[in-house]
Amino acid sequence: MDNPERARILQGMTQASDILIVGGGLNGPALALALAQTGHSVTVIDALAEKVRKNAAFDGRAYALALASQRLLDAIGVWDRVAEHAQPMLEIKVTDGHAGTGPSPFFMHFDHAEIEEGPMGYMVEDRHLRRAFLDAMAEAPRISQISGKTVVSQQADATEVTLTLDDGTTVGGGLLVGCDGRRSDTASRAGIKRTGWDYGQTALVCAIEHDLPHNGIAHQFFMPPGPLAILPLTGNRSSIVWSERTEAAARINAMSEEDYLQVLRPRFGDFLGDIRLAGDRFTYPLNLTIANSFISDRMALVGDAAHGMHPIAGQGLNAGLRDVGALAEVLTLAGRRGEDIGSVIVLERYQEWRRFDTASLAMATDVFNKLFSNDNPLLRLGRDIGMGIVGSLPGLRRGFVREAAGLTGDLPKLLQGRAI
Ligand SMILES: Cc1cc2nc3c(=O)[nH]c(=O)nc-3n(C[C@H](O)[C@H](O)[C@H](O)COP(=O)(O)OP(=O)(O)OC[C@H]3O[C@@H](n4cnc5c(N)ncnc54)[C@H](O)[C@@H]3O)c2cc1C
Repeated sequence: MDNPERARILQGMTQASDILIVGGGLNGPALALALAQTGHSVTVIDALAEKVRKNAAFDGRAYALALASQRLLDAIGVWDRVAEHAQPMLEIKVTDGHAGTGPSPFFMHFDHAEIEEGPMGYMVEDRHLRRAFLDAMAEAPRISQISGKTVVSQQADATEVTLTLDDGTTVGGGLLVGCDGRRSDTASRAGIKRTGWDYGQTALVCAIEHDLPHNGIAHQFFMPPGPLAILPLTGNRSSIVWSERTEAAARINAMSEEDYLQVLRPRFGDFLGDIRLAGDRFTYPLNLTIANSFISDRMALVGDAAHGMHPIAGQGLNAGLRDVGALAEVLTLAGRRGEDIGSVIVLERYQEWRRFDTASLAMATDVFNKLFSNDNPLLRLGRDIGMGIVGSLPGLRRGFVREAAGLTGDLPKLLQGRAI
């Protein structure tokens, strides 16, 4: 939206855009691209230099992207840049297990063949996704990027929001969006408190090479200290997200490569043949953190800044991309009607759309983690019976497959693969 009035008002500042986004991780760039497509000028600020974020060894995660998230990436012109590195997820197997004893006979099996839309989703490594976002933003004329600078203060008044960066530069815009992750300073500077707790668990993350093909099957083993996810990557590789109690995780991570694999092997099992490390090892402390409000004066929160959750269901980024689709749609439609996109009345529509959904999802991951990350025999019996029931009822199973594909609920247009 070319806005000469805003440019005039903000002419004393270094930059003036319709929208300022703090955080150029994953959700920030996705939102910038979605908004630029509908005519908004956007400035994206990230504390890290671009070459750090583009470094292939920067982040070992790989994301299980639901089909709806893939549609959003396609709609904003990012999917073509990562498609060759994406592994379709065809089946999900969920098993209750113990290290060294193999999986219990109770498991749930979800197959993409139960829905017409195709794979439930795709596994994409962070190094490919992050680079694709940065390249796409660099080619978008309406997006300006400021990298290697930290936002140190923000101020909102009736018509604009002003950010001050750590080098003293000021940047102005009509709306501020905090995409600055779980410890969002954008939220705390706006006086927004958070609800949450630490899980006392840490995720050990790495890529594994194995002798046998995975056939596009994702596995989730529930072990007493926490879940172990084995997620298919391109080739004979899988990404593991292995949750352990924090002290145990620190001990395991400090081990030599061979000792690390020795601990992993009985948990992983031998269904993919012999396993080897296929890259660096990473650790992520796990917590739950939900912002008590997703909006404030001329400000909205998106992604982990609004809701950081347990990775047990691989839903964090998927939920963030739903926020992106919803906020881009709300702002674009409001702009077309001539409304002020930074006004509370407009931002409330976004909050109403997303807050209840994300808070419920985050709480569901919390309950799931607590229910499965323990060895209580009664809970174990209950959950095994529950899994047996879900697995044997086709209607319920299909519901889970649609949920995993992100096809349920009030889907923003971009997640349906439609333009706003
Ligand atoms: C082990 C693990 C596995 C996961 N697996 C999955 C999965 O399979 N599927 C899925 O959907 N989700 C998954 N997630 C969740 C997913 O990783 C997050 O939801 C996602 O990374 C959040 O992205 P974001 O852009 O909101 O925040 P971030 O990626 O945290 O980005 C925040 C950015 O803000 C910048 N920043 C912060 N403060 C400032 C400041 N003051 N000034 C300027 N810049 C600032 C930072 O430098 C950073 O680049 C997983 C999470 C974990 C921990």
